[in-house]
Amino acid sequence: MVKRDEDLASNLKFFASFAVKPLRPDPSRNSKPPHPKSSSSFLKKFSVLRSVRGAGMLPRMNCKSLEGKVGVVFGVANKRSIAWAIAQAWAEQGVKLIFNYQGERVKENVEELTATFGDEVPIYPCDVTSDVEIDAFFQNVRKHTPRVDLLLHSVAYAPREALEGRFLSTSREAYRMAHDISAYSLIALAQRVEPLMTHGGSIVAMSYYGAEKVIPNYNIMGVAKASLEASTRYLAWDMGKKSIRVNCISAGPVQTLAARGIAGFGQMIKQYEERAPLGRSCSLEEIGAAGVFLASDGAASITGQVLYVDGGYQIMGM
Ligand code: NAD
Repeated sequence: MVKRDEDLASNLKFFASFAVKPLRPDPSRNSKPPHPKSSSSFLKKFSVLRSVRGAGMLPRMNCKSLEGKVGVVFGVANKRSIAWAIAQAWAEQGVKLIFNYQGERVKENVEELTATFGDEVPIYPCDVTSDVEIDAFFQNVRKHTPRVDLLLHSVAYAPREALEGRFLSTSREAYRMAHDISAYSLIALAQRVEPLMTHGGSIVAMSYYGAEKVIPNYNIMGVAKASLEASTRYLAWDMGKKSIRVNCISAGPVQTLAARGIAGFGQMIKQYEERAPLGRSCSLEEIGAAGVFLASDGAASITGQVLYVDGGYQIMGM
C-alpha cells in the first residue's frame, strides 16, 4: 500500500504541472464528502491527495470517479472521433491523458483538441502497424508516468474498396491490412501497456455488430471486429491475473471519419431508427459514458465482455 501511495504521489506531482480545465463546470466539485462506506485504501489515497495538495503540488482537489488515474488514448483523428468522446468523458472524471496521433495528417487536429485540457497534454506519433513506433510511443509514456491505469483502443482501417460490394472479392492485402490495424494492434498495445499497469487496469476497445452478423458492405471490417472481440477474450484471460480487465464497447453507427468509408452508412443509421428498441443508434456522449463505466470500479468484475451501446439493436431477431 505504501508503494501504491508513493506511485500515486509521484504521478500527481508530475501531472500537477498540467493545468487541466474541465470541459463543463462540475457543480459537485469540492462539495461531496467521501462515501461513508469508502474503503481504507480510498481514505489513504484521499489523505495522500490532501498532503500532496498541502505541499503546493496539486492546484485543487476534485472528487471525481476516476481521479488519480492515468489513461492512454489511441484513435483521436478529429472532434467526431469516438476516441475523443471517451477521452473527454475520462478527463471529466479526473483521468490524466496521453494521446497518440497517426502521422502529421492529424497531428494538428489532435494538438488543438487536447489543448482544451491544458497546454501540456502529452501527444506522440504512433502508427500501430509499426512495432518500432509502438515501442517509441510507450518509451515516451514512461517519461511522464511510471503507471498507466487505462488504455483505449479506438483504431480501425480497411481499404475503401474492401468496404463495398461482395465480401467474396476481398483481396489478401485488404484482409491483412484490416486485421493488422484493427485487431492485431490491440494485442501489440496490450503487450506494451501490461508492465505499466502495475496496479491493475482497464483496456477498452471499440467494436461493431458486424463482428457477429452480416452487415452488407461492412465486409472485411466485420471479420476483423470478430478477431478483435475474440482477442479481447483471450487477453482478458491472460491479463486477469494482473487485475487488468479487457472489454469491448460495440457501438451502434455514428457519423465519424471512419464511418464515411463504409458504403451505404446512411442506410445503417436508418435501420437502427426503424428497428432498435430505442428507435435510434447512440450518441458520442453515450459511448463516452460507457467508457467511463468500463474504466470504473463499477465494472471491477467485468472482463472479456462486449458491451452493446446501440439503442438495443443487438437483441432484435427481426
Ligand atoms: P475515426 O476515423 O475518428 O477513428 C479511427 C482512428 O483510427 C483514427 O484516429 C485513425 O487515425 C486511426 N487509425 C487508422 N489506422 C491507423 C494506424 N495504422 N495507426 C494508428 N491509428 C490508426 O472513426 P471512429 O468511428 O471514431 O472509429 C473508432 C473506432 O470505433 C474504430 O475501431 C471503429 O471501427 C469503431 N466503431 C465505429 C463506429 C461508427 O459508427 N463510427 C461504430 C462502432 C465501432
